[in-house]
Amino acid sequence: MSKIRFTAINQTFNRKPLKIDSIAKRSEIFAKKVFDQEKMRNYLSKTALKTVLSAIEKGKKIDREIAEHIAAGMKNWAIENGATHYTHWFQPLTGATAEKHDSFFELNPDGSFLEKFSGSQLVQQEPDASSFPNGGIRNTFEARGYTAWDPSSPAFIYGTTLCIPTVFVSYTGEALDIKTPLLRSLNALDEAATAVSKYFHRDVNKVIATLGWEQEYFLVDAALYKSRPDLIMTGRTLIGHAPARGQQLDDHYFGSISERVMAFMRDLEIESLKLGIPVKTRHNEVAPNQFELAPVFEEANLAVDHNSLLMDIMKKIARKHNFEVLLHEKPFAGINGSGKHNNWSMMTNTGINLLSPGKTPMKNLEFLVFFINTIKAVNDNEALLRASIASAGNDHRLGANEAPPAIISVFIGEQLTKALQELKNVSNGKLSPQEKTDLKLNVVGKIPEILLDNTDRNRTSPFAFTGNRFEFRAVGSSANTGNPMTILNMIVAKQLQDFKKEVDIIIEKDNLKKDEAIFNVLREYIKQSERILFEGDGYSKAWEKEAVKRGLSNTKNTPEALKIYKDTKVKALFETTGVLNKRELGAKYEVELEQYTMKVLIEAGVLSDLTMNHVIPAAIKYQQELVKVVKGLKDIDTKTYKTLAQEPLRILNEISENISKVSELVRKLRMALNQLEKDDLETKAEKLATKIKPEFDQIRQYTDQLEMMIDDEIWPLTKYREMLFIR
Ligand code: ADP
Ligand code: MG
Repeated sequence: MSKIRFTAINQTFNRKPLKIDSIAKRSEIFAKKVFDQEKMRNYLSKTALKTVLSAIEKGKKIDREIAEHIAAGMKNWAIENGATHYTHWFQPLTGATAEKHDSFFELNPDGSFLEKFSGSQLVQQEPDASSFPNGGIRNTFEARGYTAWDPSSPAFIYGTTLCIPTVFVSYTGEALDIKTPLLRSLNALDEAATAVSKYFHRDVNKVIATLGWEQEYFLVDAALYKSRPDLIMTGRTLIGHAPARGQQLDDHYFGSISERVMAFMRDLEIESLKLGIPVKTRHNEVAPNQFELAPVFEEANLAVDHNSLLMDIMKKIARKHNFEVLLHEKPFAGINGSGKHNNWSMMTNTGINLLSPGKTPMKNLEFLVFFINTIKAVNDNEALLRASIASAGNDHRLGANEAPPAIISVFIGEQLTKALQELKNVSNGKLSPQEKTDLKLNVVGKIPEILLDNTDRNRTSPFAFTGNRFEFRAVGSSANTGNPMTILNMIVAKQLQDFKKEVDIIIEKDNLKKDEAIFNVLREYIKQSERILFEGDGYSKAWEKEAVKRGLSNTKNTPEALKIYKDTKVKALFETTGVLNKRELGAKYEVELEQYTMKVLIEAGVLSDLTMNHVIPAAIKYQQELVKVVKGLKDIDTKTYKTLAQEPLRILNEISENISKVSELVRKLRMALNQLEKDDLETKAEKLATKIKPEFDQIRQYTDQLEMMIDDEIWPLTKYREMLFIR
């Protein structure tokens, strides 16, 4: 066995679970490292506290003087809790998180020193961020961008650093990150949803989006991970034969790893809780070594920050336990991939979940309004929602018979389907007293009951209603979920704006009562949105055909999906909702396309190196052994050796065939890559998706054949069964 593989596997045998302090009380550690309202009360003056709270709730500006007070309070709390540095923490368009650490420590000209953190250092920073992709925005206008404090997400201490959540914008105020458009979309949704919910409650003056994500991931032993250049470089295995045992892992195997994994999970839980992430850990073993972690839902901006932070914490804690976390959507071929389900709803400042039915017909009418408007928004913007989850990694997952298809559809369950059918028959204009009674009794009156048994959740649906929220399941496990959430908030905001306008016009013009007008508009929406509703098996071929008939898009790769950002109507949608102007959207498109291109290019490079430097040399080595065997047999008996050497000769031959196939394909791949250099970004991305990526699978087919033929002792790369099953 190759030395690297041998050492790696050997190391895993000596692993012991780390001892973790058991959690005394959740309440004692929860948000211990977060500068939340409770700490603010202790460290800020009354005026400063009031200002921060109104900045959080109403987006009010914080003036200089108050910022100084807040910074001082924050610094005192941070230093008392072990922080030595501070950083503006932000999420560039690449989706990762970024930070630049500065020390509190400052030297005076006279040699004395102090620990300093001023209001302006809190409010605004200028990171040396020229290396962050910006889609050309800063190049054409101003050379620099800056980060600005987002008070709606509380500061926290990570390690010994005070992290201040910020937006990252150019000097012209244009978005260079994921948070800025997210905040704008939340604003748009707030305005639109508040206006609509005022039909039902006058006291509502703010609506927030709520998000509860479920994060899937794989764990691999750190030593084994390090023995796989493809995992290190690309986050997934580019070659490797699926083990005979694949998905049907028995509990026995799982049991043997669980002690170490449990220690990791407990540690992760403690750290997350301290940072204010309200996790409730779980481990569901769909695939071997695959797990899931989900928190209780929170306000969407905070939930997005918490998910980004969690992905980082996971990596750090995993290393402590000699694991590597794989967040890639498809780290292993032939084994389930990972996603990030996004449970989404809207909630009023008075605590009402707008997607939750209630006890009164009026509450249920309100539910129907938000429910149907969301469905219509998805119907009208399905291609855009598809684009929001597009990435090189997720391309492996979507439509791969195990994950939501690349076709967006909405699942609502049998009972709600029936309710919508009845609503569809509401008559035009004024409703008769009889019809009103019927609606009250049979539709809006019945909803709470029907939802009780709305448990037949269709796991194949990418966008499913699950009782009091929608669950967007097609998001990739490694994605910054701010991106899909921005699009979802935006399309629902726009839809609710339109709805309000239509209802108001009908009330005015046709002199209808409010609920009559609402029923009239909803009726039309249901008719217009029928094509997006699908209750069947989303993984089936039949659905693909049916979806074409319904005019739903089914874009199979990222470059194709992202094209929707160039659509005139889409540009207008982003602009009118205030989420992104044309230039910002153009930058977003370009950066996402660049990211895709870069990732696939890296994969191509790693794959060709792996095959030429690892696979083929191993194959040749084994051939040499076989040649020795054949020669030996010939030495014994020149007459009959051909019969004796039949099998070694056959294997020799087969290996030769596979080697030539692999080298030929890799040569072709390298040539194709060279030719890309002259192409523009769009052409490059398209060629990578349609011509070059399919070649990967071809190459893999032959290398995986070789893996099965070559002596296990010689094979250089850690195998699937070793990575997935060894403790
Ligand atoms: P499942 O795995 O069955 O889909 P989970 O209980 O694991 O369900 O996850 C459900 C997620 O949905 C949790 O994060 C939960 O907090 C979240 N959730 C529940 N209600 C809402 C809501 N109103 N808005 C957003 N998320 C919600
Ligand atoms: Mg779920």
